Amino acid sequence: MAVDRQAVLAWLESLHRVYAENRDFLTELDSAIGDADHGINMDRGFSAVKAAMDADAPPGLGPVFQTVANVLIRTVGGAAGPLYGTFFLRAAAACGEQPELTPAGVVALFQAGVEGVRQRGKAEPGDKTMLDALVPAAAAMRQELNGNGSLEQILQAGAAAAEAGMLSTIPMQARKGRASYLGPRSVGHQDPGATSAWLLVRAAAAAWLGKTE
Ligand code: ADP
Ligand code: MG
Repeated sequence: MAVDRQAVLAWLESLHRVYAENRDFLTELDSAIGDADHGINMDRGFSAVKAAMDADAPPGLGPVFQTVANVLIRTVGGAAGPLYGTFFLRAAAACGEQPELTPAGVVALFQAGVEGVRQRGKAEPGDKTMLDALVPAAAAMRQELNGNGSLEQILQAGAAAAEAGMLSTIPMQARKGRASYLGPRSVGHQDPGATSAWLLVRAAAAAWLGKTE
């Protein structure tokens, strides 16, 4: 089973829907430890991605992800814009000229994207950011691949690890981003970016396993 351009476009379409549906939830999480715009930022970004794809989706996987990155960097703003932009820039590079992704290609895409976020944000797991969902997700995917797991097992392991990582941010004190200004008062709240990151991984699993969100 492989992930082709149509599957990638289905993922992007589903992200548009998921961030619209979770706009208020993400913004509520960001109102507790940030400036109450994360849901608005993500919804704006993926609405713009959908508009760009509807108007003129590029022919290959790499160019599709490159366009997503450009649109997100231009429209999302805040901390999340450049970080998710970098995720998709690295995803584009990981795809290169491949017309479709094998399970190994899917894992390489996520690992490259997550590494990009880590470098760009200079954060590490434990800092209460999106990396607390993304790093374990990529690691779980790699582990499934190394154990000869199917695409389904890889994606489900990634989504489960992202969810656990997201929940692990609740007791953390933020050390990066706006929430870090709160110091100990950031404890006891789920990180908005870790939550949007879980949605990103879960949507890939849903879109590529042929299930609807
Ligand atoms: P802003 O904080 O500028 O308002 P958003 O509200 O869109 O931007 O995004 C906030 C999220 O960005 C946080 O919940 C956190 O997960 C993530 N974030 C902030 N700084 C970093 C960083 N340096 N590295 C990784 N993620 C970060
Ligand atoms: Mg914010």
